[in-house]
Parts: sequence; C-alpha cells; structure tokens
Amino acid sequence: TPIPDYLQLVLNYCSQDNPGETAQYIPELADADPDRCALVLSTVDGEVYGVGDTDVEFSMQSISKAFVYALALEEHGIDYVVSRVGVEPSGEAFNELSLEHDTRRPLNPMINAGAITMHTMVGPPGISAEERFERILSGMSAFAGRDLSVDEAVYESEMETAYRNLAIANMLRNYRVIQDRPLDVVRGYVRQCAIKVTTRDLALMAATLANSGVQPITGEQVISPDNVRQTLSVMMSCGMYDGAGDWMSTVGFPAKSGVGGGLIGSLPGQVGIATFSPRLDKHGSSLRGVRMCKRLSDDMGLHIMSAP
Ligand code: GLN
Repeated sequence: TPIPDYLQLVLNYCSQDNPGETAQYIPELADADPDRCALVLSTVDGEVYGVGDTDVEFSMQSISKAFVYALALEEHGIDYVVSRVGVEPSGEAFNELSLEHDTRRPLNPMINAGAITMHTMVGPPGISAEERFERILSGMSAFAGRDLSVDEAVYESEMETAYRNLAIANMLRNYRVIQDRPLDVVRGYVRQCAIKVTTRDLALMAATLANSGVQPITGEQVISPDNVRQTLSVMMSCGMYDGAGDWMSTVGFPAKSGVGGGLIGSLPGQVGIATFSPRLDKHGSSLRGVRMCKRLSDDMGLHIMSAP
C-alpha cells in the first residue's frame, strides 16, 4: 500500500526545520535527543503503519492523564468522577494552581490539579500507593497491549524539581479535594507520567479509544464505550490546554499531548494517531506533532466537524 509512503511524506514535510525546545523544567527531558521524530497510525482493526523513530521509548507525561481518567471512570462511574473534577476547559497552562471558585473542584482532568486528583481515584479508597500504581501501570499496559515500565531516571529527575506539583497537591489537600499525603500523591503522579512508551504503543492506545475501548490486537475491552465517550469529550475540550480552541478549529479531533514529545489523537470508529518529537510549543505540546496532525487532518478530512 502507499500508506507508509504517504506517512513518510508527511514526516519529511513537517521536519524541514525543527523549532522549539525540549521541556526545560525536567532536566532529563531537557537532555532528550531533539531531532527524533515518528508518526504511527493504527486502525481500529489493528493494522499499524509507522515511519521514523517508531520504536524509541520516551515518557508519556501528560498523555497518561487521559488514560488515568478513563481508569478512574471505570472504577467510580461518570457522575461521581465529574462531581470531583469538572469538564470545563481552563484556558490556562497545564500547571496552573487553580480550582473552580464555587465548588473548589479542579476544572478538568487534563490540567495537573485535576490529573493529580484523578491519580488518587484509581483503585478503591484506602488502597496503598504501591497498589494504586500497580493498577495504573497494568491499566496502561492493557491499553498498549504489552507490559509497560517506568523510566526511573525521568521519575527521579522530575521529583528533584517538582515544586509546582507539590504546591498544587498541597492546595488540593488543603481544600480536601485529596485525602492522601501530598508528597505521596505527587510521587505517584510523577511516576505515572514517567511510564515509558513508543510511538507505536501510543497509536494502539489511541486506537483502543477509537475502538470503543477494545484493544485492537488483544481484543480486551479495557474500558466501557460510555467511559470512552467521556474521555474523548474531555480530550476534545481540554486535551491541548490553552491551545485547545486553536487545535479544535484547525485539526479537529480529540487529542492529548505530553511534554515528553508524544501526542495522540483518536478518530472514533476509524483510527488512532500518535506522533513523537520532543521540541515543544509554548503550550508544552510537540511542535512537529501538531504540524503532522494538522497535515493529516487536512489531507484526509479528519476534522470531525467536516462533512464526509
Ligand atoms: N509530568 C509533567 C508535569 O506534571 C507533565 C506535564 C505535561 O506533559 N504537560 O509537569
């Protein structure tokens, strides 16, 4: 098929220059090879097409937030989860120290305040930090269809300078949004962000969301269709942080970025898309990743608001 040729063309077209910087606030990510680049598509029946550095591992970072949200929904149901963390785009940076004024809920699960809260909602109340992390790791692995592991160097590195996430967790504890010790919660959350994936893994994870929660290769129903719909809706409105409106109008499918350089998109019933390039734009999303998604959206009419 000409699909790999087409993907190579998109990758080349979007790699003519390489502006932006790797994430500077996490030393281990600042040192990542900035010129790596990959693009992978997985159809809902598990056909995988990729070009570039498709098998290089990097940390999921904020992409983990979408999947942890899905796992928390699976555990507690939509109503309870939404009563704890809202679904409104914040229009602010991902690491903003903010809560909704009247309810004191974090605005949404894609910003750190909401994601740190969601981390504590995987597993039944009273579960140990270790058990909770095991559940998150095995949940992520079910989405990917293989056993994932943690990049310990990235974890240690981010913990060294996690002042801001500690401030957020302390704020959350102060308002009793979380009940656990802030340091333990931040450790768990930062570990979740340090889970290693390849671009190929991410494409299959995105394809699982596109496939109503069924992993295309293993056939496992990882989360229910209702929870997929909720997760994709929140990715649509909040997945790209303060760049969400621009993304919605120019690219137009649910997506989630991470400061490790990964980016995923899901087209329900069709395809999971993943890109990797560690240089970031001002919102903390991969610059070449955004370009590649824009190009795919234009060429293949992927914007969900465009008539077929
Ligand atoms: N671990 C990172 C943080 O909390 C994730 C941020 C991101 O990928 N946008 O700062």
